[in-house]
Amino acid sequence: MQLYNSATRKKEEFIPHEAGKVSMYTCGPTVYHFAHIGNLRTYIMEDILDRYFRYSGYDVTRVMNITDVGHLTSDADTGEDKMLKGAKREKKTVMEIARFYTEKFFEDCKALNIRRPEVVEPATSCIDEFIKVIEALLEKGYAYEAGGNIYFDTSKLEQYYVFNNFEEEDLAVGVRDGVEADGNKKNKADFVLWFTKSKFDDQELKWNSPWGIGYPGWHIECSCISMKHLGERLDVHCGGIDNAFPHHTNEIAQSEAFLGHKWCNYWFHVLHLNTNSGKMSKSKGEFLTVSLLIEKGFDPMVYRFFCLQSHYRKSLVFSWENMENAKVAYNKLIARIASLKDDGAVDEAALAELKAGFTKALDNDLNTSLAVTAIYDVLKAKTNDATKKAALADFDTVLCLNLLENAAKLNEEKEENAEAPVSDDPFVAEIERLIVERREAKVAKNYAEADRIRAYLLEKGVTLIDTKEGTTYKIEG
Ligand code: AMP
Ligand code: ZN
Repeated sequence: MQLYNSATRKKEEFIPHEAGKVSMYTCGPTVYHFAHIGNLRTYIMEDILDRYFRYSGYDVTRVMNITDVGHLTSDADTGEDKMLKGAKREKKTVMEIARFYTEKFFEDCKALNIRRPEVVEPATSCIDEFIKVIEALLEKGYAYEAGGNIYFDTSKLEQYYVFNNFEEEDLAVGVRDGVEADGNKKNKADFVLWFTKSKFDDQELKWNSPWGIGYPGWHIECSCISMKHLGERLDVHCGGIDNAFPHHTNEIAQSEAFLGHKWCNYWFHVLHLNTNSGKMSKSKGEFLTVSLLIEKGFDPMVYRFFCLQSHYRKSLVFSWENMENAKVAYNKLIARIASLKDDGAVDEAALAELKAGFTKALDNDLNTSLAVTAIYDVLKAKTNDATKKAALADFDTVLCLNLLENAAKLNEEKEENAEAPVSDDPFVAEIERLIVERREAKVAKNYAEADRIRAYLLEKGVTLIDTKEGTTYKIEG
């Protein structure tokens, strides 16, 4: 498999450290708010990578952190703690906020068929590990104490900037607009490993440490959680492109300084989902969530389909019109799959050929838009329907678009609708038609449309009654 590596800026043959095994680390969410669908684009594309490794026969161990402490409102170690800000906003404790939004995050993942990693570890459960690594960095001379905080000394590294030819003056912490310089730092790019003093000293969660009561910086958590579960050599590290600097750059600095050798071989970065007004961001307050998509009548699978239609290394523009187009395309695809018959034995040779088209697409730097084209190639192929269904079932172990499940649902609905006799009375016939339409809207999770139908009938004096056996109705008067 060829995979683009952000660290070398090249497509490379993917070769894990240990034959047949892949260790994979994913930066998890900062749980101070709902995940927006931009965050979820990153997790969908990482999910495809994870599933495709498995499809290719690798034994994958994937680890994700949950950032519940240390991520400040500026990635440059300044500003308020995002978690504390969330807790204040909702008048809850930090731990309540963390628990609530972690749960919501995994609900969103479930709705989008994103696999839960083998290990999910909140930063707050690894404080001892962070302290041990920071102590070792101090001992080795890679860290220093200043003004009560422990900083990583980037001047001790031969190379600090790894992902881009960053101009130090452009990106270095302290020179960006609106970011105040931290006078304790020896070098502009140095970053905090442990805080005991910050301008925002009302931190709710603090721990004892050799340097006083305080809390960890954001970057140290990913290095430590990865090393704790995946050892000294990591195969793939994933995240959204905004994490490349400073977060991943700092992770590499501290992990390699600690280990004394190269840490991670492949860096997989997903480009952003943008709206017409720019990058989607949680801190902007108003943002798009999975619940909003559902409310607006979009099955979460339509969003997954929308994401897969584009390559992960291109930024993607979200608009309701684009979603509408994806919905039409997805529903048409499902209708075409629903028309496939069970017509005998699978033609193994034809199936192997179809699979080859699919793997060729994903072997080429995870080209999901070509993998989606491979679905249409199946439908056009000159082979029997049983073979086509087998190919689609196989592809869907990676794409996870619920292709056959939703096609079967559509066929069930069609059967139910065909069974219902149409009344001679036009008023009754309309009620029955609308009951069917409402049921279909609910299956498509278009609750707004379902509610509209209920309200429309109520206006005409018809009350719908939902029972276990289905929907009946009562006409007023
Ligand atoms: P956060 O919860 O802010 O820590 O971010 C979770 C993940 O979403 C990280 O991998 C980010 O890099 C990624 N991310 C943030 N904004 C976007 C966006 N607009 N599009 C795609 N991924 C994003
Ligand atoms: Zn991280």
